[in-house]
Amino acid sequence: DDASVTVHESLAQRALIGRDAIDRAADEVDRVGARRVLLVATPSAAVAAERVAEALGSWLAARFDRPAPHTPVAVTAEVMAVVEATGADCVIAIGGGSAIGLAKAVSVRTGVPQVAVPTTYAGSEATPVLGETEDGVKTTRRDSSLVPGAVVYDPDLTLAMPAGLTRTSALNALAHAVEALWAPNATPVTDALATEAVGGILSALPEVLDDPTEPASRGRLQSAAWLSGLCLAQTRMGLHHQLAHVLGGAFDLPHAELHTMLLVPVMAFNLPEAPATFDRMTRVVGPDPVAVVSELAHGHDGPTTLADLGVPRAELRGIAERVVAEPYPNPRSLTVDAVAALLDEMWQGRSRS
Ligand code: NAD
Repeated sequence: DDASVTVHESLAQRALIGRDAIDRAADEVDRVGARRVLLVATPSAAVAAERVAEALGSWLAARFDRPAPHTPVAVTAEVMAVVEATGADCVIAIGGGSAIGLAKAVSVRTGVPQVAVPTTYAGSEATPVLGETEDGVKTTRRDSSLVPGAVVYDPDLTLAMPAGLTRTSALNALAHAVEALWAPNATPVTDALATEAVGGILSALPEVLDDPTEPASRGRLQSAAWLSGLCLAQTRMGLHHQLAHVLGGAFDLPHAELHTMLLVPVMAFNLPEAPATFDRMTRVVGPDPVAVVSELAHGHDGPTTLADLGVPRAELRGIAERVVAEPYPNPRSLTVDAVAALLDEMWQGRSRS
């Protein structure tokens, strides 16, 4: 391997962006020649699902409305029985990462094409990654065939998103971009995407929180989160995502809220050792990026510490040991003491600056 050579691999995906783009989902089915569609949608997306069902007409073969976080294999098995019974030849997923994960799980087992219609900012629709759980064990696959062939970004599907999920899901997206900036395999393309994502999220999120039903700012936030999803797809994530995986897996914590809680302490921990990331962030958000993100994260009207999330303080050192034993690539090198101290700050809710 030549460490001076950077590899950038683009993933093939059609994206439809804009108000009423949802009405084009059925056309995407037609483009791939499918005629028997499985429609997966969370209850939160019932209105959009109805609209798509109507547009599909007789092409709608089956519906499923109970996707679960972390793609439990038992739920996938239930849906696979429906796929086999109906001969579904395409899957449309409308919802957050849970619905999109389920469509990926169906697609990887059958080869059927996917149309993803995200209603959060988590970014799964952009990635070639699927995490599945069985008996509490998470297995992750990565394969370019997992990327949905088409994605529909319709900001109107996010207008009713509650303020809490809006804030935490947007900060979840921000974390993908921040970690892409300090990733060891960042490329000029991911740097551009991530820088634009950071600026876009941090300018659009306050506008959206002021007026959550305003479609233009919702559209800007959704587009910035799309760029973050592309960063997640193309770069290796660091300490922030490792902590999210280890803590989320060990204690079954809410995905977006956990990311929101982790981001400020991890930024404060890493940025002194990541001057190029700091420079890019200051260019788009001003001299104190940690303070800007901190204000948004601390505005969350929900759990903001590991203690609030129910993580036992006595487990923190063991978590730090697991992280340091097999660290994700990170700009600041990790010791058990330093990670344990960081986790303890997160537990207490004191953030470094
Ligand atoms: P989610 O899909 O579980 O959604 C969270 C809750 O919000 C659900 O109850 C959902 O019904 C509701 N919801 C979704 N959109 C809404 C809207 N517009 N308005 C109101 N309510 C809405 O959560 P998520 O944060 O989108 O995704 C998290 C899951 O996705 C995790 O399982 C995570 O591991 C996975 N994920 C995977 C990848 C990947 O690349 N494979 C990337 C990101 C996330």
